[in-house]
Amino acid sequence: MAEKRKFQAIKGTRDLLPPETELWNQVEQTAREVFSTYGFGEIRPPIFEPTELFARAVGGETDIVSKEMYSFEDRPAGIPDPRRFMELGDYVLAIEEGIRKETIPSTPSNRDSVRTFRSKFDEFVKVSSMLKTGFHSGGDPIPRAYGALLMECIYFAQTIQLGEMLSLRPEATASVCRAYIEHGMHALPQPVKLYYTGPMFRRERPQKGRYRQFYQIGAEVLEAIQPGHGGAKDIFKDAATDAEVIEMVMEFFARLELQGVQLEINSIGCRECRPKYVEVLRAELLKVKDRLGPDSQRRIDTNPLRVLDSKLESEQEIIAKLPRISEHLCVDCAKQYEEVKRQLGLRSVAYKENWRLVRGLDYYMRTTFEITAKGLGSQNAVCGGGRYDGLVELLGGQPTKGIGFAIGEDRLILSLQEAGKGNVAKGRDVYIAWLGEKTLATAIHAAKTLRAAGFRVELPPVEQKFGKALGQADRIGSRYALILGEDEAASGQWTLKTLADGTQAKYTEAQLLEFLMKAKVS
Ligand code: ATP
Ligand code: MG
Repeated sequence: MAEKRKFQAIKGTRDLLPPETELWNQVEQTAREVFSTYGFGEIRPPIFEPTELFARAVGGETDIVSKEMYSFEDRPAGIPDPRRFMELGDYVLAIEEGIRKETIPSTPSNRDSVRTFRSKFDEFVKVSSMLKTGFHSGGDPIPRAYGALLMECIYFAQTIQLGEMLSLRPEATASVCRAYIEHGMHALPQPVKLYYTGPMFRRERPQKGRYRQFYQIGAEVLEAIQPGHGGAKDIFKDAATDAEVIEMVMEFFARLELQGVQLEINSIGCRECRPKYVEVLRAELLKVKDRLGPDSQRRIDTNPLRVLDSKLESEQEIIAKLPRISEHLCVDCAKQYEEVKRQLGLRSVAYKENWRLVRGLDYYMRTTFEITAKGLGSQNAVCGGGRYDGLVELLGGQPTKGIGFAIGEDRLILSLQEAGKGNVAKGRDVYIAWLGEKTLATAIHAAKTLRAAGFRVELPPVEQKFGKALGQADRIGSRYALILGEDEAASGQWTLKTLADGTQAKYTEAQLLEFLMKAKVS
């Protein structure tokens, strides 16, 4: 008998269960409603994509790509295992055929490896047949060559990439941009506004508000740049788009009555002015290098902007005196930033400027923002977003502007629950307490009618004594019990008991529906 094993959800993942899932559904439903009033349509991209897509979009230097992605080689089925040397012959035939039929990537390095593998394998066969035919009668050299060739074959087998590297998505902006290009959405009326909801995957250290499978609700506005455009007028247009996108998130949070919502904004400049600022910053950081922690010291080289992100207590005073990007923005970036703020004002969106807000992903430019909420401890960011003109082009599309955000749904739900907004209606509307075999048909009929009218109905599969039925109705939180005995079934006069106060009254089927409908509204 197989050993007993207790299976558990993988670390960093969890089951979402009723009644909590009711809240998740409400949140997602509200997102759909709010986003659709702003003209967004839903996109459902796949959950895995080529690793290369994320590496390119998010940036190879980021934590997400360098160490947090769940990646795997998408091997074709049925390739023999090269570590079993009895199968080496089949293996070489399978990979040669795979390359020919392109079920294995026909890259130059793969073709090279397969060729080398074949020649090593042929040599190996020759040596092993010499051993078998007794042509060689002992002594060391040949068995040693045999072992060495076998090792070489196995080694070269490892260098053959049997399938493309794929990753579970750590975020969805890259996928949305890929889809925009793939489906030629630049030919649609611009801008294209899309939203998505679904799981993302990052191998991070699990803690409150941080999981390895977590959920995001996000939206993107993509707009192909028409030739000859992109000048000063666009600055105002882009700023208005940025402000409307931010307004939409804030409206969504307001609709959910999320508590303690704080919006922070910043501009991180563009390809023109940011590199100059980064150099100024780097020079200043070098002056104070020995007073910084090891992480920040390293970032002076790799990514000085991330030093501003530091939460290290000892560095705060030093960071406060560093040069600020707002003093180094180019004319267009500065104008756009001013306009974003003016537009937020027009929309009555309250914000705080945070010059230290630099987002982790490589693709952001100009407007960046983050929203925090109450009750989340140190993982208090519920939304991050920003402008990413140029990302679509980086992924092989035409010059395109982009602005979007991603909301951490897990954290959003946590915050709502902390504020006591998580108590969504549960239980049933009507529990059908039926007794007597002849009553079953009436009970089934009543259940069908009530469910068709949208009521949550529990129909026990076998008859129960009324006392037991009423107890059960109470335990599952039913509002009413419909009592059906043989008398009720015969007369068509059904008894409805209100469980909260124990009152009961008799109704015909039509009267019952009318009563329940009225009670639902009230
Ligand atoms: P953080 O600084 O909290 O790690 P981030 O900058 O990595 O966030 P983004 O990649 O911008 O986050 O994703 C947007 C939102 O998704 C975050 O604000 C957060 O609410 C949520 N989020 C990110 N990573 C996780 C995670 N591992 N578990 C739960 N929610 C997450
Ligand atoms: Mg993170």
